Amino acid sequence: MARPLDELFRGIRRCRRCERCITRHLAVPGEGPAGASMLLLGEAPGRSEDALGRPFQGRAGVYLDAVFAEHGVGRERTFITSILKCYHPGTPKPQQIEACRPWTLEQIEAAAPKVILVMGLAAAGGLLGMRSLGEQELDAVRQGIPCVVTCHPAAAMRFKRRNAQFRRDFARLIRMVRDYA
Ligand code: URA
Repeated sequence: MARPLDELFRGIRRCRRCERCITRHLAVPGEGPAGASMLLLGEAPGRSEDALGRPFQGRAGVYLDAVFAEHGVGRERTFITSILKCYHPGTPKPQQIEACRPWTLEQIEAAAPKVILVMGLAAAGGLLGMRSLGEQELDAVRQGIPCVVTCHPAAAMRFKRRNAQFRRDFARLIRMVRDYA
């Protein structure tokens, strides 16, 4: 039986399972309701998220909100988190992802979304054990929940082809949510 989301949030805020607890200002557990239609999984909080304790508050968040708006969806019915819950200026290390992974697995169980959007290689590696990402349509299943794997919004903001890939995969995700409704 999964622990409730608020208990997981409290645990993540106090977590000292890896050295990221030293560099964080605020842990970023993520946000969203149990029974969310979809769960979005990013890489790690940046400086803006670290300052506010909330996911996707910087430029990647603005991009994400714009893509949401194009489909007439808001953040309220979505659970948004990242495979790493704490800020660090360096790139994610495998041991950090390993230490943090159980939090995400418990969050998935507690939030019980219909579909998961796995954004970027760190998330795809951490959740699904993938070692590389291309531009092809990529699906998986985790904890019985269908996952769409795509690039990170930070890459989609910068590169035209990644933008097209992200938008294609996001549209696919929305279709899956509606098919499950
Ligand atoms: N990028 C992420 O992957 N997660 C955040 O919360 C913010 C930016």
